[in-house]
Amino acid sequence: MPANPAQHALRLDDVRGFVFDVDGTLVHRGHDGRARPQPGAAEVLDRIRASGRPLVLFTNGSHIGPQAIARGLREDGLEVADDELLTPVESAISYLRRRHPGRPALVFATEVTRDRMAAAGISLAAGEEAEVVFVAHIDELDMASLERAARAVRRGAPLLTGSYAPAYAGAHGPILSRGAMVTAAIAKVGGARPRVVGKPSRAAVAEVSARLRLPASELAVIGDDVGMDIALGRLGGSRTVLVRSGITGTVSLERLPARQRPDAVVDGVADLLEWL
Ligand SMILES: [Mg+2]
Repeated sequence: MPANPAQHALRLDDVRGFVFDVDGTLVHRGHDGRARPQPGAAEVLDRIRASGRPLVLFTNGSHIGPQAIARGLREDGLEVADDELLTPVESAISYLRRRHPGRPALVFATEVTRDRMAAAGISLAAGEEAEVVFVAHIDELDMASLERAARAVRRGAPLLTGSYAPAYAGAHGPILSRGAMVTAAIAKVGGARPRVVGKPSRAAVAEVSARLRLPASELAVIGDDVGMDIALGRLGGSRTVLVRSGITGTVSLERLPARQRPDAVVDGVADLLEWL
């Protein structure tokens, strides 16, 4: 890795699978919430598919399911298959099955996400019996369930969260993360550190690897967020490309510790075309 990542060429022809962030990387969203595909986004995905290599889009959004997100992107002009989309809820489900099988989970999430987790075999706790707590995006919250979660965590229940970043990039400034707010409240009173299962986390690395059927070391991770996307790639030993079209914008990479820097930086995904 270069000490000073610049716009130098990076080999991607020998990478066997690709992980893309969505917002700020492949699309920007407007006031209406509709996605505007970035220049070259569709071509980059097509070029990778044509080479026979698999790809996945990993967004940290957890308010709706991956099929709904993929459908929305298709409607907005970016061709994405349902099974090319991952969210922290997929990695949470896999993590719960692997690490806490059968344990009742107190889940803070939208109705859609709760239903999806139940359908995936996660036993949803309603009351005091919770043995694990998971927080995703949530629209409504009552104090009684917040307190139940904190009590469960004080009793030793692991506290999992889709994302613990305070905010994410909206088209018109930062959008504060409700999931992070709820997680912080439970962590404070429950006296435990939350474990992230979305980007960046070992759980997310495992999820991406399982979906692409490739070791993370043979993947490239492309995104606009140093703390999320580049961190995810570095965690799994993947090649990393930062795109400047999103949240990181003009951040001075020279100021980042070497272990947080991407392997390469581009202004937008279209620049990847010549490296594929
Ligand atoms: Mg992004």
